[in-house]
Amino acid sequence: MMCVCELQEVSAPLHCSSRVVTLDLGCVEMDDTTEPYFSFGIIADIQYADIDDGYNFLKTRMRYYRNSLSLVKDAVQEWNAESVKPKFVLQLGDIIDGFNVPQKTSDASLDKILTELEKLKIPLHHIWGNHEFYNFQREYLMESKLNSKPIEDEMGQLSLNEDSECPSGHESFYVYHFSPFPKFRFLLIDCYDLSVIGREKSSVKYGKSLKLLKDKNPNENLNSPRGLDEDRFVQFNGGVSCTQLNWIDGILESSDENEEKVVVVGHLPIHPDSTDTICLTWNYEEMLSVLQAHPCVVAYFAGHDHDGGYCVDEYGIHHITFKGVIETPPESQAFGTMHVYEDRMVLKGRGLVLSRTLHYRNSRKADPLH
Ligand SMILES: [Zn+2]
Repeated sequence: MMCVCELQEVSAPLHCSSRVVTLDLGCVEMDDTTEPYFSFGIIADIQYADIDDGYNFLKTRMRYYRNSLSLVKDAVQEWNAESVKPKFVLQLGDIIDGFNVPQKTSDASLDKILTELEKLKIPLHHIWGNHEFYNFQREYLMESKLNSKPIEDEMGQLSLNEDSECPSGHESFYVYHFSPFPKFRFLLIDCYDLSVIGREKSSVKYGKSLKLLKDKNPNENLNSPRGLDEDRFVQFNGGVSCTQLNWIDGILESSDENEEKVVVVGHLPIHPDSTDTICLTWNYEEMLSVLQAHPCVVAYFAGHDHDGGYCVDEYGIHHITFKGVIETPPESQAFGTMHVYEDRMVLKGRGLVLSRTLHYRNSRKADPLH
């Protein structure tokens, strides 16, 4: 693949469009008569902390920090009671809140949530979001239970091109892929690979990320989008390095060759029509270009924007941003179970998460829909 990104060119116009084709694909179409190939659970932005409820930064939404633990307990019970038990769970990041840091409760809160999720006795696949990096150093996360990469070895490998090897070391990123069922693959990506949170100040990536942010965001508080044309350039977001884009491209190329269907999963949304733009990945255009070049990609799942969102892009890729548990009232819920079939995935949403059917794109070619 020709690498189209360099950090300083992150917002350059690219050969992708954010035009969305309106298709009647969002309807609910539950099929109770056919067994799915497999099912999996999805939950986003739990942000647990043992503190009183409070408003978000903009004072528009209540956050139920303590109650998020109860919602997780209920979700686990429901998943355990499903007629087809999920084969694994995707935890889309921000599992505990940054408010654990001043309380010095990061480890205790993480233990509480993981203790509940582990009652499922199925693999948990963890994405890392901004709140993981508020609470923990990247090196610490790699050694923690939130590093679910070791599971990949148990769940099916691709024979890959040599240049698809993931780099290790100081500037490495947290990515892996697994295949829970023949011809289906999940690819977990690291949206904070380029970031000023979670990177050592001495690292090259920190320096480049800080320069980019300051170039794009003149505010003293880099978490503020005040006056920005491109409001995604805030400190609580991040980007995907050129090395990682190449790695993703290599995996997807192998999946294309094997005629697999691939779901890509990251903390940050990558399509402007699936989220408030303030939550987008810094170089979302480049991520879209890579994914849209590969007919194997059927969906992209993210969290981070607690309001959630959904669109189908012009190539037929479904983009779902899942609602956050943290802003879900105690009487409601926010999680889902995805049932996977030959020609579609059927999301059974709970509470604020809407049920919907995701038909796979038809074409084996990476052409836009007409
Ligand atoms: Zn987040």
